This record gives sequence, C-alpha cells and structure tokens, in this order.
Amino acid sequence: MTLLKVEALDCRYGLLQAVRGVSFEVAAGETVALIGANGAGKTTLLRAVAGAHRPHGGRVVFDGVDITTLPAHRRVALGIALVPEGRRLFPSLTVEENLRVAASPRRHGRWNMETVLEVFPLLRARRHTAAAKLSGGEQQAVAIGRALMSNPQLLLLDEVSLGLAPVVVEAVYRALAGILNEGATVLLVEQDLTRALGVAGRVVCMLEGRVVLEGPARALDRDRVVSAYFGLRRPA
Ligand code: ATP
Repeated sequence: MTLLKVEALDCRYGLLQAVRGVSFEVAAGETVALIGANGAGKTTLLRAVAGAHRPHGGRVVFDGVDITTLPAHRRVALGIALVPEGRRLFPSLTVEENLRVAASPRRHGRWNMETVLEVFPLLRARRHTAAAKLSGGEQQAVAIGRALMSNPQLLLLDEVSLGLAPVVVEAVYRALAGILNEGATVLLVEQDLTRALGVAGRVVCMLEGRVVLEGPARALDRDRVVSAYFGLRRPA
C-alpha cells in the first residue's frame, strides 16, 4: 500500500528552483533513502513532505489525503514526523522535557518515554540534563526519540549522521535498525552512499533538483549510483 506519494513537486527559494518536478512513492513499511550531492534538493524535498516548506507546484499525498497545503503541526497529527538537519532541540530543556513536548495525545502506539529510552539507553542517565549539554550523538538520539514520541506512521530523517564521530554514527544506526525492523516507514536523507544502500530497501537519487535514478538498493549497480550521484556521463 502506498503511504506517501509525491507528484511533480516543485520547490523554490525566490528564483532558485531547488526541486524540479519530483515524483516518487513510499509504500507502507518501506525504507527509502534520498541520496545526492550537496545542494541536490534532498532537504528541501523532505521539508516539503513535513510541511516546513511550501511547494511552488505539485502535490504531496499521504495515506490517500492531499496534504500539500496542510501546516506542519497538522501533518504531525496525521502521523508524519521529521528529524531535521541540525536536530533543532530546545537547548535549555532537559532530555525528558524535549521528549515530552513531542508526545501527541491524539496518536497512540508503542512509543513513549520508556520505550524511547529502551532504544536509546545512553539517554537514561541524561534524562535530567539540558539538551545544550549533550554530546552530538546524544542530541541526535533525542532528536530521533522526539520524532518517535509522536508515534509516526512516516518517519523523515535528515542526515542523522552529519557531524558525528563514526563510532557514534554506528550506534545511532544500530538503534535505527531496530526501529526499521519493526516495520516503520522511513524516508531518509543520507550522504553516505554505502550506508544508504545498506539500510534502505529503495534508493532515490537526486541531482540538481531532479530524480536521476531510482530503484531497489540491492538491484542497483554501485557504479551506476555513483555516476547518477555526481552527474557523470557513463561510457556507452
Ligand atoms: P545538502 O546536503 O547540502 O543539505 P540538499 O541536497 O539537502 O543539500 P537543499 O539543502 O535542499 O539540498 O538545497 C537545494 C538548493 O536550494 C541549493 O542550491 C541550496 O543552496 C538552496 N537552498 C536551500 N535552502 C535555502 C534557503 N533557505 N534559501 C535559499 N536557498 C536555499
């Protein structure tokens, strides 16, 4: 069943067209990685799905409902949660407060304070620490945990490994693997090609605002993905 449908989406910043006629679908239970070089339009596309960027044209359909013009908080209520680039936590609030803020009384499911702390045990001892005092990896764990607290149907993850030490990235992805194994539906932006191909069932590659390659991660030839990623012409 299709959960998310993006149709001919155009996004602009003034005269700059960041997303150009992008269409793709995400099925329920699927993990799709959006890949592409810096400036390809991945973050803008994710923000348009979350309701943080109003598209110039096209449609975003979630669970059969056209949500293109719906504000972000209404999309959260429908079951869309974004882990934004840069985490965007409330720095003066504690870990627990940051998590509680996102709990939605209207959405029920397996995620609550206790289950989030089970997935990210490193946060347990830091429950009463202000977010500003956490390490990058701890902050990322809170950002993901905060998104889970709304019991989303669709989890949008924007470069969760950015700026983290490799060992921390490993820990964050280990926790994510558990979440993915439970059948979550995830659309993630990941610059690390190897990681994206490893974690995702399907990959959508963008270049200069357009989708240039799309397919099942297992079936894609790595050289072809690299060529699409960098916009290289491949020998015939
Ligand atoms: P990155 O990996 O660097 O975040 P990206 O693929 O996520 O890249 P976007 O951040 O969506 O790409 O950017 C797409 C284009 O839109 C780029 O040319 C970028 O400079 C431009 N852009 C992004 N945000 C803004 C903004 N707030 N104002 C103006 N232009 C922007």
